[in-house]
Amino acid sequence: MSNIVAIVGRPNVGKSTLYNRLTETRKAIVDDMSGVTRDRHYGVAEWIGRNFTVIDTGGYVANSEDVFEAAIREQVTIAIEEASAILFVVDVTTGITDLDDEIANLLRKGKKPVFVVVNKVDNTSLNGDAAIFYSLGLGEIYSISSMTGSGTGELLDEVVKTFDEDVVPENTLPKYAIVGRPNVGKSSIINALIGKDRNIVTPIAGTTRDSIHIHYNQYGHEFMLIDTAGLRKKTKVKENIEFYSVMRTIKALEEADIIILMIDAQEGIESQDINIFHLAEKNKKGIMVVVNKWDLIEKNNKTVKVFEEAIREKIAPFTDVPIVFTSVTEKQRVLKVLDVAKEVYQNRAKKIPTSKLNDIMLPIIENYPPPALKGKFVKIKYVTQINATSPMFAFFCNLPQYIKEPYRRFIENKLRENFDFSGVPVQIFFRQK
Ligand code: GDP
Ligand code: GDP
Repeated sequence: MSNIVAIVGRPNVGKSTLYNRLTETRKAIVDDMSGVTRDRHYGVAEWIGRNFTVIDTGGYVANSEDVFEAAIREQVTIAIEEASAILFVVDVTTGITDLDDEIANLLRKGKKPVFVVVNKVDNTSLNGDAAIFYSLGLGEIYSISSMTGSGTGELLDEVVKTFDEDVVPENTLPKYAIVGRPNVGKSSIINALIGKDRNIVTPIAGTTRDSIHIHYNQYGHEFMLIDTAGLRKKTKVKENIEFYSVMRTIKALEEADIIILMIDAQEGIESQDINIFHLAEKNKKGIMVVVNKWDLIEKNNKTVKVFEEAIREKIAPFTDVPIVFTSVTEKQRVLKVLDVAKEVYQNRAKKIPTSKLNDIMLPIIENYPPPALKGKFVKIKYVTQINATSPMFAFFCNLPQYIKEPYRRFIENKLRENFDFSGVPVQIFFRQK
């Protein structure tokens, strides 16, 4: 189930500072390694073992005076519809402003859990000033300092209590989500798959008003398609179109097992796509890339390779991902997308017998053991796959703390070479024997 926490509030109260604090522990190594300009508006946070997505609405508002109040009001409305919990940030140094009051009014009408976060309470002498925010009429207040981090633990303790339990899904069919920027061809491919033969489709009302899950069962493929493309909402404020679509994408992504990231061949893979890719990777989803509108590209015998390399360079270091080139309008390789999605799904669910795993991996490790550190030798004795929804392996050894990233990566590559985890993030742990 998706747990999205939206940070709302007027400008300068400290939304982005709070956002950075909540997501910083999770700045995965991959972000720094890929050298990509990161979208700072949404990311994964973790608290007492619960992962959730945090979205900073402030990033989506233009700074021009006349639009921003309207934009903020609309964002709050979208957040009420789409988020699972809302952090309403206010500023202890300014007290309650008119815009704070307006936002509070909107939030009071919504049905989502709201946390009044009184920010900039940098020291206890300000606690008294914070009490005024009870008058917003939104219940308990949480005094924090985003700058120092004080109070955020108490806040998060309460926030995670509102999350859906990780319930067993109502059916066990694979769930696919086709995501990508506007106009890449998402609706077209969905129409190509389900368009004419309406009786193969059962739209199932999702958890929210307009989340549509389509049950597809044809050509040997049975899965649930989480439809984001068909759900275009009119927003009055231009800036919020992106906010809204990001929100929908994150939600679909959290619900799905397999993310089909569609890009337009003429535009290539862009930073927004890479952000979605990394989010899917961090959430341990299966991933494939579809390069659509292939009919519009002039091709020679090297074109596919050139495109593939350009994409892999941008999604690095997780590059073991299938790429399919389609033309939906020319009906080229549309079903291939489903074949590959199914393979990725199977790879993600794959369980390798312990004996086979050890038979293959131990000789590799013996030939190329972890480098000795401070004169100490690391001995890996045994490996097993942990029972989980995505592939996880535990390597048991004497000195797990001595194994560094390059060796972990070496092991991951060898697992990939031998067992085919194409499209699937693989987690590797070294544990004390
Ligand atoms: P946003 O517009 O709501 O995203 O606000 P920012 O996160 O950009 O913060 C606005 C200003 O408030 C910046 O100068 C921050 O450094 C400052 N700020 C944010 N959090 C705190 C805090 O906890 N204490 C203090 N004293 N300043 C803060
Ligand atoms: P969405 O916003 O991602 O759902 O994109 P649409 O499915 O609405 O497609 C956007 C536009 O691209 C439409 O005009 C489609 O006809 C066109 N389109 C979709 N797929 C292809 C393709 O494979 N080749 C070409 N040339 N046009 C395509």
